[in-house]
Amino acid sequence: MNKTVLITGGSRGIGKAMVYKFAQAGYNVLLNFNKSEDISNQIARELNNVKVYGADVADRNKVINMVNYAIENFGKIDVLINNAGISSNGLLQDLPYEEWQRIMNVNLNGVFNCTQAVLPGMIERKAGKIINISSIWGMVGASNEVAYSTSKAAVIGMTKALAKEVGPSNIQVNSIAPGIIMTDMVSDYSLEEMNAITDQIPLGKIGSSDDIANLALFLASDEANYITGQVISPNGGWVI
Ligand code: NAP
Repeated sequence: MNKTVLITGGSRGIGKAMVYKFAQAGYNVLLNFNKSEDISNQIARELNNVKVYGADVADRNKVINMVNYAIENFGKIDVLINNAGISSNGLLQDLPYEEWQRIMNVNLNGVFNCTQAVLPGMIERKAGKIINISSIWGMVGASNEVAYSTSKAAVIGMTKALAKEVGPSNIQVNSIAPGIIMTDMVSDYSLEEMNAITDQIPLGKIGSSDDIANLALFLASDEANYITGQVISPNGGWVI
């Protein structure tokens, strides 16, 4: 296979699982990280055809340099997975404006920055896949996570609108909206909270990063060529 995927936030959690899954499937992978440089280099040493690039997705210039680096090293970008994300808890009435901006800069503007940087090449080749990682909270909203939910709902809106805009260029744009997945992002939940959540999930368990990576690999493949503008939510039946 001569395909390249750019995975943002590939150093930990869901993104890391995707890096393994795509590399093992034969993709060239550009693993983007923000802070976790050592972990990222370690992952690249374990796998073939993985290069790492440190860039805050909220920084437009760094994102442009990152995309140029991927093209210089791998020739083109076939698949972009906008996975990098941060969460934030607390009541909206107490949320500092700077925190609101930080969430939007990473979770929404980061998606815009990366997408805009890869699109020209995809449009020129009339081929490409963009997979945006949203959340069930972007579908149904979460109390205490209004900023996060808003950013993830915006990602769904962007997915649908962009799918219409670039469909004629044969570019598929889809969103994955995971339920609760066992990663660092949910590590501050107590055991009681996790048990209470698990009780509400028809399949009776918390999801794994591989559950999401498997779906991303499918959406990136030719088997998914007729799927665009969709929001697919692996959530164990928690939200139906
Ligand atoms: P995680 O374990 O906290 O990992 C987050 C990843 O994003 C890390 O690799 C981190 O890189 C990267 N990242 C954070 N800010 C970044 C930035 N400004 N620029 C570039 N990379 C950045 O989170 P996760 O659970 O895997 O979440 C991955 C995605 O799934 C997120 O978009 C999240 O909102 C979404 N999601 C997660 C769940 C869940 O239950 N876990 C549910 C629904 C949706 P560094 O370590 O290098 O900083």
